[in-house]
Amino acid sequence: MREARCSVGTLQTALALAYPRTDRRRILAGGPAGLTAEDAPALRTAVQDALASLSEVDLTRRANALLAEHDAQVALVRHDMLSWHLHATSRRRGRTSDAISQFALSLLLIVAAGDQDRLTNCADTTCDSIVFDASRNRSRRFCSTACGNRHAVAAFRERRRQE
Ligand SMILES: [Zn+2]
Ligand SMILES: [Zn+2]
Repeated sequence: MREARCSVGTLQTALALAYPRTDRRRILAGGPAGLTAEDAPALRTAVQDALASLSEVDLTRRANALLAEHDAQVALVRHDMLSWHLHATSRRRGRTSDAISQFALSLLLIVAAGDQDRLTNCADTTCDSIVFDASRNRSRRFCSTACGNRHAVAAFRERRRQE
């Protein structure tokens, strides 16, 4: 799965930039080169639109549309000790178009790998972040420790109320 690390990193970083509550530091530290906070405003719209529905068919249709919209070209590359894997860049100029193309390709690779069910809504009901659960045992439910803690406090209060 070494080659998948790059596309998963791109997706995690795009989610962190698109959904402000997401724990950023941890994700960005492991993210791919290229995406930074400067890309956030343009990325946010593209990412949130692409993930408006998490069904396999909708994800695929939207990611395909993003690749077309940004005139993306796909190339097989090798970098940072990873094995050969796909990258997308935009024929338009500009790093934001590149970032959106790379995000769209990452989404398609995740669907192609059958991993789209790892994309879920943050389990905190007051949060609209999308979480990609890359953990082996599929245990990640919250976009951030803040959401996890808020949920734990609310659950604790609810239990006390019922006692
Ligand atoms: Zn890569
Ligand atoms: Zn959250």
